[in-house]
Amino acid sequence: MQILDGRKVASLILSELTNEVVLLNKKNVQPKLVIISVGENPASALYIRAKQHACKKIGILSDLLKFPENLTTEALISTIQSLNTDSSVHGIIVQLPLPKTISTPLVIRAILPKKDVDGFHAYNLGKMFLSTEFEDLAPSTPSGIVRLLEHYEITFEGKEVTVVGHSNIVGKPISVMLLNRNATVTICHIYTKDLAKHTRNAEILIVAVGKPGLITADMVRSGVIAVDVGINRLPDGSVCGDIDFLNVSKKATFITPVPGGVGPMTVACLLENVVKSAKRLNI
Ligand code: NAP
Repeated sequence: MQILDGRKVASLILSELTNEVVLLNKKNVQPKLVIISVGENPASALYIRAKQHACKKIGILSDLLKFPENLTTEALISTIQSLNTDSSVHGIIVQLPLPKTISTPLVIRAILPKKDVDGFHAYNLGKMFLSTEFEDLAPSTPSGIVRLLEHYEITFEGKEVTVVGHSNIVGKPISVMLLNRNATVTICHIYTKDLAKHTRNAEILIVAVGKPGLITADMVRSGVIAVDVGINRLPDGSVCGDIDFLNVSKKATFITPVPGGVGPMTVACLLENVVKSAKRLNI
């Protein structure tokens, strides 16, 4: 069994990005990411800190705009519109989840697609849907998964892939990205009748649900490549994924740890989008 080491692969991506930022700086371009956060959410605060820390490490400026819980959809959209026209800003992300009183689809739609470095806008998702050639500002978690597996020379063509979870930010886009790479993809969700039947069929199993221990060793085949996207905080403060790592790792050929697997790759791919966007907006 081999660990898919997201920290190691992410640090390789970040060091390449550092060089690209230096080149941009020589052309008087300073890549800048603006993160918008609404209300108080300890998990979101942790993710934001990780993104800002990584930005600082590679020379990307990052601003955090914090708003109270009672912010309206209209006020948030108006902030986004002014960032859309601010030429010093190359990437805008709205930390999800937003409070229930705010319309997430309207807010995401307000972001200029060229600055949508999370890749959640319908325009960028639509491009990703067309084929690998059109993938542009692709969502960072699915991109991170693809990059991580590619680093370990894992191929997708003709593989049986099962994705558990069908969210717009992980499950659906990773399914499309792997379909574009000619995998045979099965997507499971809360209404799937026999989850284990589908997970056992998988040569590559990708789990993005948010339920600790959802995938047990009896639910995977020998030799599986297991990718755990879940991030769950346990009552003792420790963090784990959705896969029973200890037991599934005994049957797997490759497996991602949590933490240290998909998480760091997500951050690296997000920053890659910021650099891409800074380059393009300054051509
Ligand atoms: P989400 O929007 O809550 O989606 C969870 C998905 O899991 C939904 O499609 C849901 O189906 C499905 N589901 C729930 N219970 C299930 C069950 N028992 N069997 C099969 N499917 C089930 O979550 P998300 O944003 O995709 O995130 C998923 C997890 O990944 C979370 O732990 C999150 O923290 C983590 N995450 C990690 C990263 C990273 O960088 N590592 C990035 C993003 C998210 P229904 O919609 O039908 O209920």
